[in-house]
Amino acid sequence: FLSSYRPVFYSLQEVINAGINQINPVHELQVALIHAVMPPNDALIHGGAKENQNWIDSKREVDHAFQNVLNMKSLETDYDLLLRLKKQWEDAKKQGDQLLQNKHADNACSDHEKIMLMETFDENIRIIAVELHQLIDHKERVILELYSGIKGLKIRGLSITLTSIAVGILLGIAGIIWLTKDRKKLKDLSLYDPLTGIFNRKALDFHLSRLDKHQKESKIPCFSILLIDIDKFKSVNDNFGHDTGDIVLKSFAGTIQNVVRSADVFGRFGGEEFLVLLPGSSTKDAIKMAERIRSKISLSTVNEPGGGASIRITASIGVSTYPHDASTIDALLKSADTAMYEAKNSGRNQVVSAGKL
Ligand code: GH3
Ligand code: MG
Ligand code: MG
Repeated sequence: FLSSYRPVFYSLQEVINAGINQINPVHELQVALIHAVMPPNDALIHGGAKENQNWIDSKREVDHAFQNVLNMKSLETDYDLLLRLKKQWEDAKKQGDQLLQNKHADNACSDHEKIMLMETFDENIRIIAVELHQLIDHKERVILELYSGIKGLKIRGLSITLTSIAVGILLGIAGIIWLTKDRKKLKDLSLYDPLTGIFNRKALDFHLSRLDKHQKESKIPCFSILLIDIDKFKSVNDNFGHDTGDIVLKSFAGTIQNVVRSADVFGRFGGEEFLVLLPGSSTKDAIKMAERIRSKISLSTVNEPGGGASIRITASIGVSTYPHDASTIDALLKSADTAMYEAKNSGRNQVVSAGKL
């Protein structure tokens, strides 16, 4: 009885195997592409040397997978499309190379340029992945239909192969969803505060972890932070209105920006709180910088729009040094916050340091 079915089974399995052989290299290319998205993303977010090697490996993997796909006889009719996708991959490679460039290289991009570049890179990879998915979608459906026609035979080897096809399809879909999500994550990764134009909290966190890493790798002996909070800012809003409060915030940010050095990082920590990161600065240096900022602010005035009052503000500053005053970034921020509150309690318009000199 069974032997009479064998010829049917073999011919079906041959068709299915041929189908799988067509799909597998394309799946491998999709997976390689999905892997390749990570190193430039990771480099942008964490900035590690490890990402360089991962990127080199990923590029080799994708190049190899592309070559396999381009060599496939069964995809000859899709050759032009595949060549176009290969060209798009070459563009993405150049963007990835640029994203992984040393921050201190002469032609290194600014953080903002990097975000834009990252978006283009991601979009390129996403388009390639989606087009590859469309290319094999039809072929996969044909194989699955063939399978459903013979599944009554319950051939074990076949069901294993078909499970791997199903996993492949899921992987492709998951990859595309992942890419889309990742893009969204990058969109959220805007580094600038829209009101003042300086770095936002996210950018500050990014720089803090970078400095933490540099300190641990002994690239810098230490770094200090200044947590700056405007005194009685609520009363500025209450007396002059929220819009004027915004103008004061912008002017405040501009004043500090003019005092800090180019290697320092300055950003809005939230509301009327700002943070300055001073790479390589000891507590003593940091207190000097904090005093300079405090005095500059107390001497500045902002004219109320429409020729009204001349508004003056002061700020309280908490200073903390890493790793002197704290052994984690969270603890460092906490100690700067405690010092800043001490400055408030001591009458405001003051600098207080967490560490003893
Ligand atoms: P203290 O000296 O204790 O710091 O007093 P304060 O009034 O500065 O502190 P409080 O935390 O009570 O108030 C902060 C105010 O900052 C309240 C909030 O409305 C205002 N604020 C936060 N962000 C903005 C903003 O973007 N624009 C304006 N205009 N006001 C803001
Ligand atoms: Mg505050
Ligand atoms: Mg305040």
